[in-house]
Amino acid sequence: MPDRYDSCVVRPLESRGSTVRIPVIAGNWKMNTTIREATGLVSEMLPSLDRIENIEKVVCPPFISLGAVKKLISGTSIKLGAQNVYFEEKGAYTGEISPVMLSDLCEFVIIGHSERRQYFNETGEIINRKIRAALRVGLKPILCVGEKLEENESGRTEEVVTAQLDSSLAGVDYDRDSIIAYEPVWAIGTGRAATGKQANETIGFIRSKIEKLYGGEIARSMRILYGGSVTASNIAEFVQQPEIDGALVGGASLKAVEFVSMVKQTSQIKVG
Ligand code: PEP
Repeated sequence: MPDRYDSCVVRPLESRGSTVRIPVIAGNWKMNTTIREATGLVSEMLPSLDRIENIEKVVCPPFISLGAVKKLISGTSIKLGAQNVYFEEKGAYTGEISPVMLSDLCEFVIIGHSERRQYFNETGEIINRKIRAALRVGLKPILCVGEKLEENESGRTEEVVTAQLDSSLAGVDYDRDSIIAYEPVWAIGTGRAATGKQANETIGFIRSKIEKLYGGEIARSMRILYGGSVTASNIAEFVQQPEIDGALVGGASLKAVEFVSMVKQTSQIKVG
């Protein structure tokens, strides 16, 4: 059985005494694009995206396009993620997709996105079951956490994020391959992004929480992204921050030129 970290892109490289984390830009296409539009979008991004090195580039199209996009990106440096997964292995769960079905197709899966919490009543317990199920088949979760506007305004961000991490990760053997995305709900799809400083502070807090749960090495190696109205115009503000390892991007990931620009800027800032 190979060591799980053999193929891991994130090695805790020691450079000038600090851990280097490979940045990630992941595009969450949500419920957008037909199969034809999805392959068109990827074909448009592919030549430029493939040339940008030392950064993980992940696209998360709808389930039905995963197969077609997988064919297109085969042999390139672009990686594939799903937007959701069910926690059961198989059976009478009409309309659901199991982790093992996805593990044939993609490397990442977004779990606990605020839209799933809000519209599909996903609780901490459900998210926890999904994470366990994903990890069992080697899928890398991108776990989303973040507070609502009223929670932010009443100074409860850390409390909310702590409760989400505690319930999502209870009893989970999370590792450095897994990713966390801090996505304040009030910033998603609203055009009102957090500031780089705010996001950096909360992500620093999340990292300290991961350290308590899993130890310093995992906390230093784990990529934690910001998400919420990130565009090519504001990405630099986020990825210049030391705690922020990239972005989970919704709306702006549907524009090929903009997505490529966000990846390029992140690579230049983080890698040089
Ligand atoms: C998201 O859906 O994860 C997201 C961050 O959306 P947007 O970039 O559109 O705010």
